[in-house]
Amino acid sequence: MHPSFHPRLINGPFDDPGLFIPFLFQKRAIVFDLGDINALPAKDILKISHIFVSHTHVDHFIGFDRLLRLMLGRDKNLSFFGPPGFMNNVEGKLAGYTWNLADKYNYPLSLQITEVQRDFTLSRKYHCQDRFEPLKDAVKKPFGGVLYEEAAFKVSAIILDHQIPCLGLSVKERFHLNIIKEGLKRLDLEPGPWLSEFKQALYNRTDPAAKFEVETPGQSGKKNFTLGNLAHQICRISPGQKITYITDVVYSEPNQDKIVKLARDSDHLFIEAAFMDKDREIARNKGHLTARQAGDLAARSGARQFSIFHFSPRYTDQESLLYQEARQAYEKII
Ligand SMILES: [Zn+2]
Ligand SMILES: [Zn+2]
Repeated sequence: MHPSFHPRLINGPFDDPGLFIPFLFQKRAIVFDLGDINALPAKDILKISHIFVSHTHVDHFIGFDRLLRLMLGRDKNLSFFGPPGFMNNVEGKLAGYTWNLADKYNYPLSLQITEVQRDFTLSRKYHCQDRFEPLKDAVKKPFGGVLYEEAAFKVSAIILDHQIPCLGLSVKERFHLNIIKEGLKRLDLEPGPWLSEFKQALYNRTDPAAKFEVETPGQSGKKNFTLGNLAHQICRISPGQKITYITDVVYSEPNQDKIVKLARDSDHLFIEAAFMDKDREIARNKGHLTARQAGDLAARSGARQFSIFHFSPRYTDQESLLYQEARQAYEKII
């Protein structure tokens, strides 16, 4: 099986948090947190369509400027999501620059900013050509846990306690489509861009009786199928992939319960581990987890794989101790 999401931490564990999640065979990615993103090549940054920010401490949001700089002058619609007060933070960033030439760009960049409150979200659009002046009214929508959804996947969020509200995030594929090579061979088809269209049609719940045409380069003519018949011959459906991202949270009971529920059965849980357990008092005061607590949460949520990050600089050259502590806590329960 080829997973659809290929998450990777943007930086090493002592540097700013950020999880880059490119999609297989698509020039597209989402990102959880926006710390320093200089380690991401421009071609990867340009794939990003949706940005989810846990909170706006500087180590989680300073990458906004680099992203904006690269996207300016491009025909892009970027969607940002963040905690309560996020709209103000973004407006503050935008207000830091002079935009008198912004309406002269050939291609219009637009930003949609959504902030999450307990049971509703507020969204507002900002267009480069309007010098990023906010459109008048924010749109209010009820929020029941799903922050963003499209046919193939959804992103859920919870509000956690970090002495300020901080979002825990999870992306879940609705189901996974595995293309069977032998099936393609049997029908004399070659993989190509049509496969993305084919998958999208299945995610869109298109009528199985609908016609589906496949054009394969190097072959004369086209082949016609019904969507259902083609699906039957070339693909198998398996459970969708789930990636969860938890950072900057205190190990309180309400946080633990919410995290375990959000991260339940994740294929990969990315979870901060700023401190070692011997320093758990410092962790608690600063609103962070220890490696032991991170490993324990990974085990309790049944995550199949987990990675820790966001280490305090006090453990420079001792990162193996953090990995070891988290691993031991995980294995004790599993
Ligand atoms: Zn923080
Ligand atoms: Zn942080």
